[in-house]
Amino acid sequence: MGFLKKLMGGSVTPAARFNFYPLMVKCRRCGEVINAGVNLNNELSETCNANGIVTGYFCRKVMLGTGRCYQQIEVSLTFDSSRRLKDRQITGGQFVE
Ligand SMILES: [Zn+2]
Repeated sequence: MGFLKKLMGGSVTPAARFNFYPLMVKCRRCGEVINAGVNLNNELSETCNANGIVTGYFCRKVMLGTGRCYQQIEVSLTFDSSRRLKDRQITGGQFVE
C-alpha cells in the first residue's frame, strides 16, 4: 500500500515521468524474473464510459521466460484517466517489488 501512496502523492513529479511504468514479474514455475515494464504511451487501451469519455486505461500482457520453461505469465493492469495504476492482476507468476 505504501508503494501506491507514493505513486499517487507525487506532487513534485511531472506527468512526463509516468510515461513508463516499471514492472517486474517472477515466473511461478521456474522463478525467472522478467522485465514487464509498460510503455504508457503506446501499450495502453482506452476504457470509455457510455458517453465515449475516457475513464481510464487498460493493459494486458502475456510473457514467456527465456529459458526452457513454457509457463505463460499474464498481467492485467488498470489505470485511471491520469494513467496512474488502479489495479493489477497476474496469473502464472507474481509481482516483484
Ligand atoms: Zn518459468
